[in-house]
Amino acid sequence: IVQMRSLNKHFGSLHVLQNIDLEVAQGEVVVVIGASGSGKSTMIRCINGLEEFQSGELRVDGHDLAPHGKASRALQTIRTEVGMVFQQFNLFPHLSVRDNVTLAPMKVRGLARTDAVTIAERLLDRVGIRDQADKYPSQLSGGQQQRVALARALAMEPRLMLFDEPTSALDPEMIGEVLDAMRELAKDGMTMIIVTHEMGFAREVADRVIYIHQGEIVEQGVPEDVFDNPRNERTQNFLARVL
Ligand code: ATP
Ligand code: MG
Repeated sequence: IVQMRSLNKHFGSLHVLQNIDLEVAQGEVVVVIGASGSGKSTMIRCINGLEEFQSGELRVDGHDLAPHGKASRALQTIRTEVGMVFQQFNLFPHLSVRDNVTLAPMKVRGLARTDAVTIAERLLDRVGIRDQADKYPSQLSGGQQQRVALARALAMEPRLMLFDEPTSALDPEMIGEVLDAMRELAKDGMTMIIVTHEMGFAREVADRVIYIHQGEIVEQGVPEDVFDNPRNERTQNFLARVL
């Protein structure tokens, strides 16, 4: 569903992504790990067009994203097909939980309110917070807010979900409930690309783990190989620090 070939991205003189080749198959769960500043966020942000790139090829669900292609039609389509959950929940503070989830399906996909509400309640139930539908984001815990963000992304029926450190802003006791919801999603066959520092979770859910060092993919493989038997010295050093 994602084909990235020799993708290069610069921020001014900084070469943030260097000849990145990344293929993600439908239904695959890919976890991206790497040190701070290595380019993990930038890489996944390219996939839904939040960042432009300077050269290379990028195809997402059959749509080509061109270099420097900010305003392309493909980008509009991709944005509706790719869901994203960020470290900061980015909920609309003035809208109830239910309205946060129904907004995009009504505005972007043109669903009638009753249909959007039905979908929203099903999704809120799925992430375990159906009873919070009338509250506002500020009245929820961080873990609950992040689950609303997840339900909101799922309401667009995405073909691919991107996660950028979804639990990094959470208190430790709330991390589990968000990871549980993500685990369920993976089990249901959702294609997911996840940037996370939760190595136990990565080991458990990932079909493939990718290690990025200074803008390059230096190692990838099944979790057992990358975590227990890393071949690259940089991966070994990184894992020695985080595991
Ligand atoms: P972290 O684990 O801290 O989130 P990351 O691996 O996600 O790090 P990125 O956010 O992708 O790293 O950043 C990669 C590099 O690009 C860093 O050196 C960062 O300072 C730089 N960078 C990111 N965004 C911008 C920007 N908008 N303008 C200039 N430089 C940027
Ligand atoms: Mg980041």
